[in-house]
Amino acid sequence: MPRWYLQLARCFGCAVIEDTWHYFLHRLLHHKIYIYIHIHHEFQAPFGMEAEYAHPLETLILGTGSLIGIVRLCDHVVLWAWVTIRFLETIDVHSGYDIPLSPLNLIPFYAGPPYHNFHYMNFIGNYASTFTWWDRILGTDSQFIAYTEKMKKIEKKTE
Ligand SMILES: [Zn+2]
Ligand SMILES: [Zn+2]
Repeated sequence: MPRWYLQLARCFGCAVIEDTWHYFLHRLLHHKIYIYIHIHHEFQAPFGMEAEYAHPLETLILGTGSLIGIVRLCDHVVLWAWVTIRFLETIDVHSGYDIPLSPLNLIPFYAGPPYHNFHYMNFIGNYASTFTWWDRILGTDSQFIAYTEKMKKIEKKTE
């Protein structure tokens, strides 16, 4: 049995692989050629069950990212942990609730529900599934940052 920190590192590796795959393929699905199979955002506000609503090709294309890490990094314990975390993360970001005490907030650079909510609302930007770094590096979170700052100013005025 590998040490717990090695299992955690493998699990994190699975998340990094999935997130990178998801960012680029998801961004491609927003291109006008592929947008007709990206039906996942048919609802403008996400909710838990809606997380699994997708075109079969969309499921195949984006789901492959979760499998690459399994094939490359997982034994049975890491597989159990990775699938559990991925499932919880998917439901969390589609829940519509930003729960401050959620243990998922302990994941470094975790995107979370407000991040994915904005993708549904705006349809441009915030393409990553788990982490914020690809959107940050490639500037596809600029509208989200502007929106967040605008909302903070409005909240300050109403206090
Ligand atoms: Zn999308
Ligand atoms: Zn979604």
